[in-house]
Amino acid sequence: SLYRGRTTRDWQAADAAHFLHPFTDFKALAARGARIVTRGEGIYLWDSEGQRIFDAMSGLWCVNVGYRQQPLIDAATRQMQELPFYNAFFQTSTPPAIELAELLAELAPPQFQHVFFAGSGSESNDTIVRMVRRYWALMGQPQRQVIISRWNGYHGSTMAGASLGGMPGMHEQGGLPIPGIVHIHQPHWWEHGRRLGLSREQFGLQAAQWLEDKILEVGPENVAAFIGEPVQGAGGVIVPPESYWPEIQRICDRYGILLVSDEVITGFGRTGQWFGCERFGTRPDLITFAKGVTSGYVPLGGVMVGQRVAQVLIEKGGEFTHGYTYSGHPVACAVGVANLRLIRELKLVERVRDETGPYMAELYRQLQEHPLVGEVQSCGLMGALTLVRDKGTNEPFAPEIDIAMVCRGHCFGNGLIMRAVGDRMIVAPPLVVTRAQLDEMAALIQRCLDLTL
Ligand code: PLP
Repeated sequence: SLYRGRTTRDWQAADAAHFLHPFTDFKALAARGARIVTRGEGIYLWDSEGQRIFDAMSGLWCVNVGYRQQPLIDAATRQMQELPFYNAFFQTSTPPAIELAELLAELAPPQFQHVFFAGSGSESNDTIVRMVRRYWALMGQPQRQVIISRWNGYHGSTMAGASLGGMPGMHEQGGLPIPGIVHIHQPHWWEHGRRLGLSREQFGLQAAQWLEDKILEVGPENVAAFIGEPVQGAGGVIVPPESYWPEIQRICDRYGILLVSDEVITGFGRTGQWFGCERFGTRPDLITFAKGVTSGYVPLGGVMVGQRVAQVLIEKGGEFTHGYTYSGHPVACAVGVANLRLIRELKLVERVRDETGPYMAELYRQLQEHPLVGEVQSCGLMGALTLVRDKGTNEPFAPEIDIAMVCRGHCFGNGLIMRAVGDRMIVAPPLVVTRAQLDEMAALIQRCLDLTL
């Protein structure tokens, strides 16, 4: 076999001895032993014990076309043979990078004709920090340095990515956030709006008002950009009220502030549109992307640069002193082209919009009947369930009971990968999922909720 016949225990011992995992309590994992995932096909994974697992998280929100898609494998193999690497520095380019840039310009909203490639979502968000500040310097307003983002947003793990993010647990480690980044509250109705006694739509306007308040506090002349995920993913699939994004757009327009849509999760079909900004009706100046651009088969990210910014960078900017060795990596870009063509050929975006997204919403409405579930939310193929102690009053569990982790334990044992965030259980299955497979997912969720009761 590919894995030289080592046992699960052997793998776990070697893993614990040498591998420091991301976002992991190293000691706790060493004590328990990692699950060793060995194979994937379609929406399923298999582990080293031979158990089949329903991957309702698409890896980490990225395997949009599912596992083992031959066109992506062929594209990587061919490109590896032809030219495994060349860079895009020093006046050189490669055909796969050019083709992917061309295809992205075709698929993105019309204001986007240019792309800057990076290796990940974090690097893409790092790029926008420098790019928006550079834009304002070139516009003769160098004091416009401040970037506003949201608590509980996730924008990556580099210094700038983690600073843009609103995760206090990350800020507490390593001297974050970096200067010039400030946060406002998130449009989380269940968390904030319900307590304020507002309807979802009233609360959407209130949450957008927090942006205007912050702009006025910082001084509009000092604000460079606002960044947000159309739907907060890692924060717990927080689907904003419909009133939120149009109001955010109005406020950004009013003060001339650049709008950045972090589409690392919502890009490439997840919400039932190619990009989440199209689902929520905004006209961003920049889009950051990663994950689904290659369905995670190889690392790739980037920034779609709208004409407003691109024209200034190109016409007035001279050299932009920024870039990565792997900006435009030919193998990654070849896989990106094959992946986006496959999404288009299989009509996955339309399928999420018209068929699987609405069907998942229906299944989630049924799950709302469960005695543990207070609220359900879904948008395209992203879904969340909030677990409550008392369904009558929606009272949460006491903080010392990590109910979502208990539920996640049952998922783990029952062949379902679902993620626990606070008191929410979240899913984002591959876009190739069928209605029958969504039925299977809902039945597994139901069983795991029953076991958690
Ligand atoms: N932005 C968002 C919205 C994300 O969800 C993530 C990762 O989950 C990132 C950025 C960071 O991407 P990466 O892990 O590829 O650096």
